[in-house]
Amino acid sequence: MTPSYAHQRVTVIGGGIFGVSSAVHLARLGAHVTLVTEGAFASEASGRSLAWLNSARFRSEEYHRLRVIGIDRWRTLASRNEGAAWLRFEGGLTWDADDASNRIAEAFAHEQAIGYDSMLLAAGDVAKVTPGINAAAISRQGAIFNPGEGWVDLPTLIDILVRELTSLGGQVLTQTGKASVDIKGGRATGVSCANGTRVEADAVLVATGAAVPAMAQQAGHVIADGTPVALLVKSKPFKSALRAVLNTPNVALRPTPDGAIVCDSAWSEEELNRGSNGSYDVRPATVERLLSEASNVLEGNPKLELESYHCGPKPVPGDGESVIGPLDGIPGYFVAFSHSGATLGLITGELIAHEIVTGEASPLLAKFRPARFSRHVEALAS
Ligand SMILES: Cc1cc2nc3c(=O)[nH]c(=O)nc-3n(C[C@H](O)[C@H](O)[C@H](O)COP(=O)(O)OP(=O)(O)OC[C@H]3O[C@@H](n4cnc5c(N)ncnc54)[C@H](O)[C@@H]3O)c2cc1C
Repeated sequence: MTPSYAHQRVTVIGGGIFGVSSAVHLARLGAHVTLVTEGAFASEASGRSLAWLNSARFRSEEYHRLRVIGIDRWRTLASRNEGAAWLRFEGGLTWDADDASNRIAEAFAHEQAIGYDSMLLAAGDVAKVTPGINAAAISRQGAIFNPGEGWVDLPTLIDILVRELTSLGGQVLTQTGKASVDIKGGRATGVSCANGTRVEADAVLVATGAAVPAMAQQAGHVIADGTPVALLVKSKPFKSALRAVLNTPNVALRPTPDGAIVCDSAWSEEELNRGSNGSYDVRPATVERLLSEASNVLEGNPKLELESYHCGPKPVPGDGESVIGPLDGIPGYFVAFSHSGATLGLITGELIAHEIVTGEASPLLAKFRPARFSRHVEALAS
């Protein structure tokens, strides 16, 4: 039986996958939850994510374990929503450039060694396991197919979770403007919003995506930040047999629930500039090249037309690994900040909710505490 923590008032800041998932898990445990977000739900990274659910290639042991457990939670959700168009487990296919940077054989050996389901395939064999891909685009070193990977449409899921939250009695406050954590007597006591709303709380979780490091800094804590600006381009729906997520040298892409694709790439991030008014300058040539690279890896090289594109920060901690847990020395103040927040969205909410209401530290999060950054700064200073 799950005990109830109804006496605890917890306020979560952030309407992305981390905030919403955490709020729902807190409400499931019986906490009295208020979810506050500055705008609409999924207005930031969670609304423009490739959302490939994976633990492919090279990771620390602890980070790989967390990601694999994260995928397990998505699989459970998929089995409860059989046939859902917004959550699919139809594998991922990866290949590298045909040059000295190609590490496909090494990645395959590593994935096999750690028991991550993977197959190394010659280009001509790819169609036997997954359809819709242009075999001629695959490099001669071959491609890795990971049958256990998937993708999720985060805005749809966030909408479902918000409905569950309200049905469990959670309070939802959107369009509040910027919120900040109130700290009195050395502990977090609630949240104040730019629109004048104030919420009292016993604990506050800051899940504000790219804004987490700056908010932690206001509370005197260092969280190293490696957040880049990223671009996600969506095509118009077209006839395609594609099922898998593709990770290729010049483009990563996946199908969408409405029969289109979304795509991104590392090179396109380097072509984005922040304008003086805070908006991002996206060159039409960047968008066109992304669609053209996507067409190149798809069977029949379909003509892809632009439906929309979205650009903005992609939350990434400075050392690349998740930052989840309490801010030391400020009782009641918790943060959740990570790269790969789609893969980790459900498990992060589950683990942090349990920690907040029970006070019991999860061993799964031991490597991912915010305090590692201040320890690093202290070590450098000494
Ligand atoms: C292009 C792209 C591709 C990606 N690909 C993948 C992938 O393939 N696999 C994967 O696992 N992950 C991927 N990610 C990462 C993943 O999408 C993010 O890690 C995840 O969405 C972050 O969720 P979040 O809730 O932490 O942040 P966000 O979704 O950014 O949400 C933060 C929320 O906090 C609100 N907020 C901010 N400041 C305040 C404030 N002061 N007061 C009130 N509200 C505030 C924002 O408005 C927003 O609602 C990708 C991301 C991008 C952008």
